[in-house]
Amino acid sequence: MPERLDQLAEEAAKESWTYVEFLDRVLDGEVSARVERDVTMKTRLAHLPFVKTLDQFDFSFQPALNEAQIRELATARFVAHGENILLLGPPGVGKTHLAVSLGVAAIMQGISVVFFTVADLVDLVHQDVKEDRLERRLHALCKPNLLILDEMGYVPLDQRSAQFLFRVISRRYQKGSIILTSNKSYGEWGDVVSDYVLATAMLDRLLHYSTTMNIRGESYRLREKRKAGVFHDLSAKPVKDSPSSSQKTQGERQREISSRYDGL
Ligand code: ADP
Ligand code: MG
Repeated sequence: MPERLDQLAEEAAKESWTYVEFLDRVLDGEVSARVERDVTMKTRLAHLPFVKTLDQFDFSFQPALNEAQIRELATARFVAHGENILLLGPPGVGKTHLAVSLGVAAIMQGISVVFFTVADLVDLVHQDVKEDRLERRLHALCKPNLLILDEMGYVPLDQRSAQFLFRVISRRYQKGSIILTSNKSYGEWGDVVSDYVLATAMLDRLLHYSTTMNIRGESYRLREKRKAGVFHDLSAKPVKDSPSSSQKTQGERQREISSRYDGL
């Protein structure tokens, strides 16, 4: 700030600004610096898996998707009304990309966001039960204005995790928005949570004030692989990577996840 003040004062003298003009410029700079700090902080707290924006989304690849509707959602008005967004579709169609982009757009407007995959949430629930801090977790998940729950349906939910998820959804109902992505249709939720009554109750609250988008297109990931000519090899060659989650012990995975969500 002091260097900026010196620089502004010099400009003011050179261009003979009035005092009011000078003050205006000083405050302008201060406000944008503060907004920038706020966005940086909120982005860190959101634990997004990556940062991508809507401008990086190729709508022409998903022609069935209503771009205008998504641009409207990016104004984050749905958050002010405590409404939810459900993005459904098979793997690779851009559900996480869209959820993250809407999260980023919300953060730019000063909204607090937290991102979780449902699988991570299940792991945290197990750990929190052991450490007797499930209620604290529930409280933390109800605080952000927007909660993104990614990949509902990839892992089955045990009874305890399903009940916890139901409590999160109920507590946030009409108060805090949720963006949820899933590869399962609503009819299949009973299998995911192994409890049809609980699945219906979750959906009842999630869908009451909500927008559902079904993305039925082709996988963008596979299109990229196909272009690179490796798609036909995918099933034959194991991907060489860091140890996959299945190779890690449950304890290792839980420690890794809880350190990722430190402070939540
Ligand atoms: P999903 O969550 O539906 O499995 P992702 O959002 O993870 O799919 O998308 C897979 C990858 O492809 C990501 O890197 C994402 O950014 C990219 N992607 C998907 N759809 C599009 C699109 N229409 N335009 C640009 N990138 C896309
Ligand atoms: Mg995804």
